[in-house]
Amino acid sequence: MGNLDTLIQDLVIANRILAREEVVDAYGHVSVRHPDNPNCFLIARSLAPELVGLEDIVELDLDGQPVRPEDRSLYLERFIHAAIFAARPDVMAVVHAHAEDTLPFGIAQGTKLRPVIHSGSFIGTEVPVWDIADNFGETNLLVTNMAQASDLAKCLIAAAITAPTPLMPPSPTLLMPSGLSGLGASSVTSTSTAGVSRAVERGGHAAPPRVIAP
Ligand SMILES: [Zn+2]
Repeated sequence: MGNLDTLIQDLVIANRILAREEVVDAYGHVSVRHPDNPNCFLIARSLAPELVGLEDIVELDLDGQPVRPEDRSLYLERFIHAAIFAARPDVMAVVHAHAEDTLPFGIAQGTKLRPVIHSGSFIGTEVPVWDIADNFGETNLLVTNMAQASDLAKCLIAAAITAPTPLMPPSPTLLMPSGLSGLGASSVTSTSTAGVSRAVERGGHAAPPRVIAP
């Protein structure tokens, strides 16, 4: 089995695991950069992650457009993945989800998302928050074009540049509030396996600062 076939198989498994662990609901999605062409990425067509199979994986360019003619619907928020892959050449996998464990931290003013044990430390000391309302005003809370998605990706670039300490890396996670409705969270990693693991860990091993041991 070639590199591409293996990666597509992994991506299908990633969809199923993230659905099983309730990290993604019917609207979340996971993607991986194409192994042979860094200017493209692989993601499922618009489909609930728990139903994704090999035949559902499509190849998109960094504008979020299908590389080959595609009649099937695509995720409306696929631009999030395209813009992050374009802005961060080091990123090989992206998970965008609306996991309920993280949603409150996108809108809480005084309580930040913080790691509480070592396996949650990958989120860093400061998780950036991007609010679509800041530059795009009132919307339907979906990231539906490259202008919005590129604005979002700038937050992850800034986080990567300002590494807090040698032991706590820049956050690979971005929270996305808007008004009173949580948009969700986007996470980036160097491999799809790490992406699945961290997306699951992010929900279970992060909490408000009040529970951090002294
Ligand atoms: Zn979303």
